[in-house]
Amino acid sequence: MGVLYLLHTRPWLCITRKKAGFATRKLYSKGALLYRNRILCQALRMASSGMNVAAFQKDKAYVDGKWVSAKSGKTFEVTNPSNGKVLGSVPDMDRSDAQAAIETAYRTFQAWKSTLPKERSDILRRWFELCVKHKKELATLITLEMGKSFPEAEGEIAYSANFLEWYSEETRRTYGDVTPPPAHNKRVMVIKQPIGVAAMITPWNFPSAMLTRKIGAALAAGCTVVARPAEDTPLSALALCELAEQAGVPPGVVNVITSSRENASPIGKELCENPLIAKISFTGSCAVGKLLLSQCANTVKKTSMELGGNAPFIVFDSADVDKAIQGLMFAKFRVTGQTCICANRILVQEGVYDKFVQALAKVIDSQLKVGDGFEPGVTQGPLINKRAVEKVENLVNSSVGEGAKVVVGGSRKDGPGNFFNPTLLRDVTTEMSVAKEEIFGPVAACIKFKTEDEAIAIANSTSYGLASYFYTNDISQSYRVSEALEFGMVGVNEAAITSPETTFGGWKESGLGSEGGKYGINEYLAFKNICYGIQHKA
Ligand code: ADP
Repeated sequence: MGVLYLLHTRPWLCITRKKAGFATRKLYSKGALLYRNRILCQALRMASSGMNVAAFQKDKAYVDGKWVSAKSGKTFEVTNPSNGKVLGSVPDMDRSDAQAAIETAYRTFQAWKSTLPKERSDILRRWFELCVKHKKELATLITLEMGKSFPEAEGEIAYSANFLEWYSEETRRTYGDVTPPPAHNKRVMVIKQPIGVAAMITPWNFPSAMLTRKIGAALAAGCTVVARPAEDTPLSALALCELAEQAGVPPGVVNVITSSRENASPIGKELCENPLIAKISFTGSCAVGKLLLSQCANTVKKTSMELGGNAPFIVFDSADVDKAIQGLMFAKFRVTGQTCICANRILVQEGVYDKFVQALAKVIDSQLKVGDGFEPGVTQGPLINKRAVEKVENLVNSSVGEGAKVVVGGSRKDGPGNFFNPTLLRDVTTEMSVAKEEIFGPVAACIKFKTEDEAIAIANSTSYGLASYFYTNDISQSYRVSEALEFGMVGVNEAAITSPETTFGGWKESGLGSEGGKYGINEYLAFKNICYGIQHKA
């Protein structure tokens, strides 16, 4: 790692293996010492595995194939949510930097759009292979800046790289149609062409995969890109640029601009309003998604919006309770509950409610471990920032005030870092905020229901429509319920529902368009009807 990286940010690591214990002991208190020693062991382990994270940790943005500063020279710090320590800093770009990146992407589009699908396919394939080759370095950056456990970060890199692989394959299959003629003197075909420069705004919870799911599709279609990653996690995005360059992505095809939260809004406005941008793809909150949509209206941009969710997770009386719990552990506690498809409202039928809650409490106690994402066995990293901890804490406290009971957890973890203990609440009702709002934290809120109709009515009684899950062993029920749920994704006796092969997208206020699968590339293609008038010989 790390040693190179850690030396850069942690001067105390400038010590030999022999002296390590002594030096750190002099500098730090007992608690801090334990932490430092763990990190030191890790650094040494990573160094001996030949990993060099420093080569991937950038302090500049990437525009026109160059590593660039903000025009203003300003920077902002990136911190580790596990301990608040500064990892480094990157350019705090503003609207004028965004304009420059857009112009670059527009100029480059004129050449990139004419490349052959096979050429784009080869480049995307090489990018995929490089991500796989450097998965440990990329995963290290994710755990450092975002906090998820290292195994989860490795999982994200595999998922992220797979989008590049998927789109390297899809680029050669953007078939159009030759349609039956509407008249004897006409011939009609529909071709698909790259739409133009695509702008992307991505969140912090999947710092790598949310980018490749968009950029992979855009490049495959023949579009060029201006992407702005979340301010919390720009390092992973910039590391992807390093590998894009190595893979042979030409300068100006992928441009990544970084900024603080303060500059997110002006940059977002520029991306939405600039006529040189043809497409906006956003993943984030409903509130910001709606704002971006309104800003795109004037230039009538094609948009993809992957917004929030309030996923129901329904357990029917007929379900295999152990299997449902196993599914819930993934759907609820993955990334410490910080995914937009995390189970939010756990609806359990009255016949199995008590059994389910009791068994779930035991599994939470025995399987989840809170801590720094690099620590062996940790499943629950920190929440992204203090604001997130406060939000989760308020939701738990208000539910308890309204009658919910805490079965497990219920509070923050003492000590530094943005940690919240895995929490199980029972006797939750549909009126409580914890059932209405997207929790985005490790809180399982269990609601009791009586009938299938009631469960469907509760599940659909939300303006969100992203993911949903249910467990049943009644085959007729599995058809009825999966068809009745008003959600873009339904897991039936299955919680791991996403993959590059299938569509990801929400109904209602959860979004517009879909990513991945055979339709994902269409988000970056414009359809053109070409109608030939020909001389007809009767
Ligand atoms: P979260 O609360 O999870 O950060 P947001 O929707 O606020 O979700 O943020 C998702 C992404 O959108 C982040 O990259 C963030 O910086 C960016 N963002 C936030 N506000 C705006 C805005 N007004 N215009 C453009 N991007 C924004």
